Amino acid sequence: MNKKSHPLLEDTCLPFQIEGQDIKGRIVRLGHSVNEILSSHNYPNQISKLMGEVLAFTALIGSLMKYDGILTTQMKGDGPFRVLISDFHKENKKLNGNIRGYASFDDIMKEGDSLQNMFGEDAYLAITIDQGSFMERYQGIVKLEGDTITHAAEEYFRSSEQLPTKIILACDQDEHGIWQACAIMIQHYARSAEGEYVRDETKTKEDWNNSSILLNTIKKVELLDKKLSLQNLLIRLYHEAGVRVFDHTEVTANCRCSEDKIRTVLSSLDLKELKDVSEDGTVTVTCDFCKIDHKFELSKLID
Ligand SMILES: [Zn+2]
Repeated sequence: MNKKSHPLLEDTCLPFQIEGQDIKGRIVRLGHSVNEILSSHNYPNQISKLMGEVLAFTALIGSLMKYDGILTTQMKGDGPFRVLISDFHKENKKLNGNIRGYASFDDIMKEGDSLQNMFGEDAYLAITIDQGSFMERYQGIVKLEGDTITHAAEEYFRSSEQLPTKIILACDQDEHGIWQACAIMIQHYARSAEGEYVRDETKTKEDWNNSSILLNTIKKVELLDKKLSLQNLLIRLYHEAGVRVFDHTEVTANCRCSEDKIRTVLSSLDLKELKDVSEDGTVTVTCDFCKIDHKFELSKLID
């Protein structure tokens, strides 16, 4: 699928601020990227939808990273759904980022099954941020509760950054079977960036409540409406207070698997192990994320 044949599809992250309030937000809408990933995996619908929401969420919070790095979102439990992983990475000091993801599960879950039924009682959402030597590696873990990942996602910000946060996620196919996903978030900052703002507690609380209520009025079809631009969607929500948008960034589906890394792993195996996994003198390693087959000649691995 190329961009020309679907000109309305976008893969954009747009940060914004509600005028005169201590509230910042960002919205991510994924088209080509999420469609490429979900089409290549071809999971049952319910799992594709969940995966798409998680990809949008991962892009949303990954785009908050200041430096090059990798943000990984992992949902894990002891239920029939074993693991769902997605990551967002930025490199070469570019503002734009790349996403990928995959899921592993035993059974086809029932449509509308709760997260707890899918992932089991002790399921959790782990978010890991690795920005190389720049910053210390950070991991936040929250329990997966409720029917959607939204609750766990909001809880992550409450516990890791003490930031009141509201998130809405959506993912669905359009009438042509094209997948799209969207994530929108608002966060309540305790003080202005300058740190000199004298807060009016009552107004601040009211602002947050009003903005949260307004966010809840948005419908998933609006989040995924290709004809409704992200700017216009934000104006529709926050026209009363006014909304300021900042420079957008782009998101692309891109895997980080590399032949060199896999070759290094294979070279560390002994001859018997290599022979066991080879077929007709070739070892094939399929990437869980992008489904690409990496093929290696056994004779060259042994040298
Ligand atoms: Zn790959």
